[in-house]
Amino acid sequence: MYNAITTLPNRGDLLGTLEKSLNPTCDAGELVAVIVLRVQRLKDVCIEYGYTESDTIIEEFIERLHSCLRDKDYLARINTDEFALVLPGLKNQAQPIMAINKIQRTCCAPIELDGREIKMKLAFGSSVSPDDADCADALLRCADLALRDAEVGDLESVRYCEREASEPVQALQLETQLEAAINAGGLQACYQPIVDVETGEFAGVEMLSRWPNGPFGPVNPSTFVNTAEKSGLIMPLTLWCLNNGLRECGDWQAILPNVPVSINFSTLVLTDPHLPEVVLRALNLWNRDSDTLTVEVTESAIMANPETCLQILNQLHEHGLKIAIDDFGTGHSSLAYLKQLPVDILKIDQSFVTNMVDSLADRRIVQSVIDLAHNFDLTVVAEGVEDEETLDTLTLMGCQRAQGYHVGMPMPASELNAWFKGSPWELFNAPAA
Ligand code: C2E
Ligand code: CA
Ligand code: CA
Repeated sequence: MYNAITTLPNRGDLLGTLEKSLNPTCDAGELVAVIVLRVQRLKDVCIEYGYTESDTIIEEFIERLHSCLRDKDYLARINTDEFALVLPGLKNQAQPIMAINKIQRTCCAPIELDGREIKMKLAFGSSVSPDDADCADALLRCADLALRDAEVGDLESVRYCEREASEPVQALQLETQLEAAINAGGLQACYQPIVDVETGEFAGVEMLSRWPNGPFGPVNPSTFVNTAEKSGLIMPLTLWCLNNGLRECGDWQAILPNVPVSINFSTLVLTDPHLPEVVLRALNLWNRDSDTLTVEVTESAIMANPETCLQILNQLHEHGLKIAIDDFGTGHSSLAYLKQLPVDILKIDQSFVTNMVDSLADRRIVQSVIDLAHNFDLTVVAEGVEDEETLDTLTLMGCQRAQGYHVGMPMPASELNAWFKGSPWELFNAPAA
């Protein structure tokens, strides 16, 4: 009946307890809420930290979860990465929302482990009886559906009764708060190392933005980049990336001169005729050489407006910037088109890389991209390298560079130094300025 690792009740026990809470003898007018929450990418945490460390992290997480509950609340672990809460005796619909907010704040605060900080990312779904359902099975199902909506929509939390209606409201809230975050320092820059597997040297970083305190807790980058694109905030976001990325890489000058930094440029930015001017101004402001900046663009971003993009990419390339095609293999660009693009780097999409050791089909795709890159005289980077075996296989296949959790997680600039020191890569052979 009980979950072996954590001694928490399981799904069967949950349904029994929930049924009892819904018993009509409970006080009239009182509500019972069910909240299901999933720890996002728990598997990635296990891979990154190992299973023993992950158990420590989960134990700390469960302790924090308990600290958010009242005596009469009930907690079960219904899957490896999924928990369910029953909150009986509620007075109004706002109480479960406040509980979710409290859990977000408490459980997503960094967990310290061996001097490192781990932040959990959670998705929630909730339902309330009697409004949404009045039997245990149906109420849990409503909460599960809401959780699924939250995950599909990249939202932190969805209430069953608001599944449809809440979307425009949430979108508007996200826009307003994103603008404030860009302007008032609410975003964080993380840097993920890229290494050269041929020479064993550090090859640079990709800058990835984080929004840790969005309206419903941390917001997924794909979600807020999408919001920025839809709401005219993509240029301010890109400017924020340029200024922070170039400034912070400049700060490492004394330790690692001219660290190459890659920044993601999305579709709309690539059609703005002012882009080259804006980029050059930022390079100048932070006193960085243009060949230390790589612009990452996806095939689909280019194909959305090929003529304008080509012009802009050509201008950037003429000024010495490097151009990388991101997520290569997932778009529909023709090889003939690739020939016309001023490209220096191909980044093999992680969907082909993460399972390549077990999948012959993925290995063939990866080998084809590596061969293509060599034939076009391009540097090839494999993304999503999650273990040693994948790294070794890529090296044997002739892939030059690697990026992924096995090499290094995306981390704030302040942690990069510790990563350098603990890393097997020959980091300090970077050419002198
Ligand atoms: P991307 O450019 O393909 O970035 C790589 C994504 O893969 C990042 O997700 C990174 O955290 C994740 N990743 C890195 N190593 C591994 C690994 O070993 N395994 C797995 N499974 N994943 C790995 P993230 O940070 O969530 O970013 C998602 C996407 O959001 C990025 O995809 C990029 O397209 C976009 N993005 C992030 N920051 C920015 C930004 O500042 N501006 C723009 N325009 N887009 C951004
Ligand atoms: Ca990228
Ligand atoms: Ca990518």
